[in-house]
Amino acid sequence: MYVTLKNPRTGEFKQIKVGWSWVLFFFAGFWGIPLFLRRLNIWGGIFLLLSLVATCQSWIANFFAGDEDTAALMGIGVFGFSVSYLILTIYVAATGNELTAKNYLESGWKFAAPDSAEAVEARRRWRIRRVAVQSSASEGTKKCPFCAEDVQAAAIKCKHCGSDLSEQQSV
Ligand SMILES: [Zn+2]
Repeated sequence: MYVTLKNPRTGEFKQIKVGWSWVLFFFAGFWGIPLFLRRLNIWGGIFLLLSLVATCQSWIANFFAGDEDTAALMGIGVFGFSVSYLILTIYVAATGNELTAKNYLESGWKFAAPDSAEAVEARRRWRIRRVAVQSSASEGTKKCPFCAEDVQAAAIKCKHCGSDLSEQQSV
């Protein structure tokens, strides 16, 4: 199932899968590249580091190949590393789409069809509440999230900057 997000400023659309990401499962290990492409930079950094360690690991293993004790230690190290790597890969594959969607929503993107079954399901799964626009101190008005000017609480379009206020997602 995919949900469509829309950038209200540029009119650009983006489809994001709701659920497991096979792309991340198979390719996150390649220096974190698919994570960086999604601007999940922290996770990309973690996988970049893991890839570096993995590369050096085989180099170190070759270097100490003759020594039995070191070889045993290396074996334990490689096993522990592989298990951690697998767990982290499963974690990003399971949550990567959610993190990507939340990144977009935080930078102002909206669900293209907020009342569609897909959007409702995505909100439920990603635990996103549909919240009212932050109300300002004065009664009957709210603050436009785009230009921070006060507008009528019932307004669906900002009179100052013309932004769409009909539905605001927050995470
Ligand atoms: Zn505004």
